[in-house]
Parts: sequence; structure tokens; C-alpha cells
Amino acid sequence: FLEGKTALVTGSTSGIGLAIARALSAEGASVVLNGFGDEGEIAQLCEEMGATHSAANLLKADEIEKMMAEAGEVDILVNNAGMQHVSPVEDFPTDKWEMILALNLTAVFHTVRLAVPVMKKRGWGRIINTASAHSKTASPFKSAYNASKHGLDGFTKTIALELAQSGVTANCISPGYVWTPLVEGQIPDTMKARGMTEDEVINDVLLAKQPTKRFVQPAELGALAAFLCREEAGNVTGANWSMDGGWTAE
Ligand code: NAD
Repeated sequence: FLEGKTALVTGSTSGIGLAIARALSAEGASVVLNGFGDEGEIAQLCEEMGATHSAANLLKADEIEKMMAEAGEVDILVNNAGMQHVSPVEDFPTDKWEMILALNLTAVFHTVRLAVPVMKKRGWGRIINTASAHSKTASPFKSAYNASKHGLDGFTKTIALELAQSGVTANCISPGYVWTPLVEGQIPDTMKARGMTEDEVINDVLLAKQPTKRFVQPAELGALAAFLCREEAGNVTGANWSMDGGWTAE
């Protein structure tokens, strides 16, 4: 049902973004990938999906502008790239704070402001922002991340209202813990911040939050993103859709 549509998915060389790109490609969308990684592996992903790839660093507004210009007319914009850092607030490196806000929040403002004119002109568009359970609730030691994701929720609601009568929807999808390199990478710092072993971090910190006691699978988020692109989802806008094993129900 996405034949003839172009989908740009940021941060799609890995994890959740890659699964969303695969799900949209499977429905027929032409996909533009973005993100870092091994050149050979990225070339293989492009071949697999018939996709193109932008290496834009989303920390830089000029690179975002170039990516958007090269992508052409984007019908589906998935803002998924994001980063995390775990540290008590008093030790939080100020450069990490700036980077997390820039990637998780400011980059989304830039892609959206550049994509919206074309979507409005066409009378159809889908903006899907990967937020997090941490856009609705908090855990300690993630001040920049939680601030950025709460901000993303507010930004998304605002543009949903601005675009409500234009055929363009804007929603957040909010995963709980998904087993990806981003989660794996925060385990050593969490071990340090909380004085725990790896197993304790996985079971007593991560999965302790998720009543289902299992990690969300990236492909499940791909299916949710694909649903939001359907015609039947045209009245779903301004939502922040959890897929978190019941975490934020508690
Ligand atoms: P990941 O680390 O596996 O992938 C991140 C992607 O972003 C990669 O493709 C990477 O190359 C790209 N990226 C990083 N910095 C970039 C930059 N400056 N410019 C362009 N691309 C950049 O992460 P993931 O776990 O798949 O997370 C994806 C999104 O999901 C993030 O926004 C994250 O906050 C959110 N999220 C993840 C989880 C989880 O448990 N993994 C939970 C909730 C929300």
C-alpha cells in the first residue's frame, strides 16, 4: 500500500530505524536510509531494499538540509536517530547534553520544517517520531535523554495540531526497552552508576520496568510504523503510542 511513496528514515542503519525501513520497504515504499556504519554493510542494506543512503550527520543543520534536498519529495518522514548517555546530573558532560538535545530533538525540528511544505502541497504525509517510554515517565541518570524525549512528545503534538486539516499526521511511537546497540551500549555505564553486575542491570533495571518481562522486538515497531502509514490511520494524529510491555501503565 506504499507503492509510489518515498520514506526517509533517520538512523536506519541499525536497530529500530532499520526495522522500520524494512517494514516500509516491504509495503512498497522507496526508502532513503540515513545513519552511520560500515560502508559495505550499508551498501548491502541499500541493495536489499532498493534504497538510497544519506550519510548526513544530523547534529549539523547544513547536512540535514542537504539530505532533505537530495531525498526529494518525502511522503513519510520517520525521525528515529537518537542517542543516550547515562550519568548523574552533576557529572553529566555538557557536550553530551548538547549532542543529545541536538540529535533527539533539534534535528527533528529541522527535518520536519523542511518536509512539511511538500506534504501540505500534496495533501498527504506521515511524520513518525521515535520517542520512548522516557517521553512519558523518567528514570534516574538519563536527564538529557528524558528531557529530549519529553520535548519530542510536545513538539509532535504541536505539529499534529498545526497540520490537522492538511492530510498530514504526526505521531510518536514510544518503545520500552528494545534489544539494540543503543541499549547494549548503556549497560556498562549503568553498571557503574548503580554499582551492579550486567545481569542485575538487565533484570533489575531494564526488564524490571517491563511487566511483560521481554524486550520489544524492532520488527514489532516496524509493523506499528507501517500501520500509521495506512489510510485507516488518517485520524491517528498527535498520539504518543506506547509499545513498552506495559511499562507506562504502571
Ligand atoms: P541504535 O543505536 O541501534 O541506532 C541509532 C541509529 O542512529 C543508527 O543508525 C546510527 O547510525 C544513527 N545515528 C546516530 N547518531 C547519528 C547522527 N548524528 N546522525 C545521523 N544518524 C545518527 O539505536 P536504537 O536503539 O535503534 O534507537 C533508535 C531510536 O529509538 C532512538 O531515537 C532511541 O532513543 C529510541 N528508543 C530506543 C529504545 C531501545 O530500547 N533501544 C527504547 C526507546 C526509544
